[in-house]
Amino acid sequence: MLKIFFYIEPFVYSNLKHNRLLLYNTFSFKWFVSEFKNFKVLKFIEELFNKGIQRCCEIDNTLLYSTEFESFYRNCQQYNMGSLHKGTKAPFIMNFFPKVNSDNRNESLRNNWQELNLRSSLNRIEIVVNNPMTTCINEDLKLLGLKQISFPYFNSTDFVNVAFNDFMKFTDGLNLSGISVVSIIGDFFKLNDYYSFSEYFIKSIIEINIFYKDISDDFIFKLRALRNKNLRLVVWIDDHDFIAIKDKMILLQEFNSSVDYRFVITNEYYLKEIERFMKKNRKNFDLVPFYNNKNLSFFKKYCFTSYTDLQDIKLNDRDLFSRMYLNELNYGKLIILPTGEVHSSLFFKSFGSIYNSSLISVIRNFALDENGPWLKTRQLVLPCKDCLFYLLCNPLTSYEYSIGKMNLCHYDKTTNNWLQ
Ligand code: SF4
Repeated sequence: MLKIFFYIEPFVYSNLKHNRLLLYNTFSFKWFVSEFKNFKVLKFIEELFNKGIQRCCEIDNTLLYSTEFESFYRNCQQYNMGSLHKGTKAPFIMNFFPKVNSDNRNESLRNNWQELNLRSSLNRIEIVVNNPMTTCINEDLKLLGLKQISFPYFNSTDFVNVAFNDFMKFTDGLNLSGISVVSIIGDFFKLNDYYSFSEYFIKSIIEINIFYKDISDDFIFKLRALRNKNLRLVVWIDDHDFIAIKDKMILLQEFNSSVDYRFVITNEYYLKEIERFMKKNRKNFDLVPFYNNKNLSFFKKYCFTSYTDLQDIKLNDRDLFSRMYLNELNYGKLIILPTGEVHSSLFFKSFGSIYNSSLISVIRNFALDENGPWLKTRQLVLPCKDCLFYLLCNPLTSYEYSIGKMNLCHYDKTTNNWLQ
């Protein structure tokens, strides 16, 4: 006798929390949430999603034609996520198993700690330059310990800058010359051995992040003379001082590599003004919102995750797999401070110094610390770990730590509604 089976496609990611279910299609990037109030339907759904390696269950007519299941089934059909099968035997439909070991980053977490894998864990190094001449971006930034944005200034004369030889000793022979991005935070030319760094990283992109006030004629002269063709210049500007960038633009216009302008934005007024100003001047720019303890409403309006943000999200099975295990924003990133201390995020403790540890031991420590910046995910923090959307939401950023709240979103978990 023919039986009826209901199944969910293997490329569909699911998250069942209590009586609510999120289904996400990793091909079309569509998702929907269903709530089950009918006890029998809920039992069926629980059985379906707790079956282990497959997601297919026999279904009887009473359940199939119940109002609640019918509406769930319609959604599954509309988004190509599940269907019915008639036959004598259940078809084998695999559960959602994101690809393992198909991506270097993930492979390196699982394989033994060979040098090659350790090296492949690393994709970005930031070297912070101590610059006694620099004034800080603003007082609010100082109050927050200069931590929030990835532009920490060190204007103390107590620290010397990291020297190329010490850096090489720290790497202990591990070849980093092909690393994708090396970011210099501050005036690159204040590093005594800047030329050695630039030669060593000739195959990488060297991104020089400089505060606009530090751009001098001498800086431009050295920039032009540098042979490295993979230079990218990022010029940082306070929002309240945005007009001052005009002079710097004139100074930089002959520099033939790419120049990006990055504005530290604290409120809506400057946001609009800067957009208008930069469009008129036809320059590449981006905006970095800055939390200063007084502008939470600005953050709520422009930075908190909304329903529309999640609707626009496009994650395939690999992306979801990465998000299950690591913080994609921090993973593979090292920040070396002028003191020699090595961090990955300034909100987490350091795992050593270039003067007393080796690069391999630092990477190993970051890659094994579940509560550290590389591996801490939304699955590990409240209230996100109880939320249906924890894999779809962006990884934890420094904003969560500066604002002191992990759920920077418009989702109200008590009513299960999006407020915006
Ligand atoms: S509670 Fe956390 S996971 Fe859920 S929507 Fe908000 S930020 Fe995202």
